[in-house]
Amino acid sequence: MKWVVHYAELGLKGRNRPRFEKTLCENLVRALAPLGRAVARRLYGRILLDAPEDANPQDVAERLGRVFGVAYFSVATTLEPTREAIGAAVDAFVSTRTFASFGVRVRRVDKALPFRSNQLAGELGARIQARTGARVDLSDPELWVDLHLLHGGEAILLHERRSGPGGLPVRSSGRALALVSGGIDSPVAAWLLAKRGCELSYVHFHSAPYTSAASQRKVRDALARLAAWTGPAKLWLVPFAELQQTLVREAPSEPRIVLYRRFMIRIAEALAERVGALALVTGDSVGQVSSQTLANLDTINRAATLPVLRPLVGSDKGEIIQLAKRIGTYEISIEPDEDCCSFLMPRQPATWTRPGPIEAIEQGLPVKMLVEATLSRVEQERIEPIS
Ligand code: ATP
Ligand code: MG
Repeated sequence: MKWVVHYAELGLKGRNRPRFEKTLCENLVRALAPLGRAVARRLYGRILLDAPEDANPQDVAERLGRVFGVAYFSVATTLEPTREAIGAAVDAFVSTRTFASFGVRVRRVDKALPFRSNQLAGELGARIQARTGARVDLSDPELWVDLHLLHGGEAILLHERRSGPGGLPVRSSGRALALVSGGIDSPVAAWLLAKRGCELSYVHFHSAPYTSAASQRKVRDALARLAAWTGPAKLWLVPFAELQQTLVREAPSEPRIVLYRRFMIRIAEALAERVGALALVTGDSVGQVSSQTLANLDTINRAATLPVLRPLVGSDKGEIIQLAKRIGTYEISIEPDEDCCSFLMPRQPATWTRPGPIEAIEQGLPVKMLVEATLSRVEQERIEPIS
């Protein structure tokens, strides 16, 4: 079965456009690979996709609906670009549907073909009306009949149009490293950056064996859901308990969470360098919890040299939850677990730290050594999409 994929923003990329289109083609083929071999080719501002033979159209549609960069897509029937062939195909198509209103749209890419788009649309409209008695509605009909006349003697009839997720193809915007907890927010933040074309690697800090393995399992499961949108990815698991215990011994208790976070940033940056990631991604949202007041975000951020991208910074929890449900991570994220920051949590976390005093505390600590000791015990896994 053939499909036509339309992209939106890619059209704006000027001379970069062929590269974006190529990446999108590769991602489409990869998204369908579990169903068999697909072939994608660029075609005048759209992509013509030969789905794997015998693949269930519903499965294909589901997968195409998760490829970033896709604005919308349709099933395509290819035709001879003659009036007779087009008329016959349209007859066959409308005879399989019931509808009270319809619209015909013709786009003629090949201006050499002996049709005028409007004229052909009018002829086909009259023909469908005569056959079915349905009324023409060009604003919101029950059935669209979309006909594209392409170069090289090809015409396609498009139907079953569906929306894609929009955005840019993954791998078209460089790599970022996302910090993921077992919570609701961080997978959503990662998804939003993937939607902007970033290829993501992930890092999770855990306090095993002092906390259960639940957070690690949740992170793996949530990332497998994300991988259904992005393809496979790399996850680093960082054993954080020892460093936390050092901080508990050596530093005052109130700013402990901020200190944990600053160490997370430093360790994440070292891992980012290993994979050439140019930014970190977190699920912070201003004011949501004590570590996310503007003052604490400022103090935490000063430990970073890479940009820390926080796509949820202005989102409410309700909005984040809605998105998590759409992505497929919500059900996993709400399972109970123990976050590494609940391990050795201070009784009264500081809500308003300033960089000066925190840096003074860190000056009394072997920061570099603590970071390196933790990095030496990092484990790496590969995340595969859940099918
Ligand atoms: P989330 O729902 O993403 O856990 P949260 O609302 O619980 O977020 P915090 O616990 O303050 O907020 O975490 C803020 C951000 O810091 C997270 O979104 C995530 O990017 C990062 N983070 C927190 N804990 C961890 C962890 N254990 N491993 C990796 N990153 C973490
Ligand atoms: Mg959390």
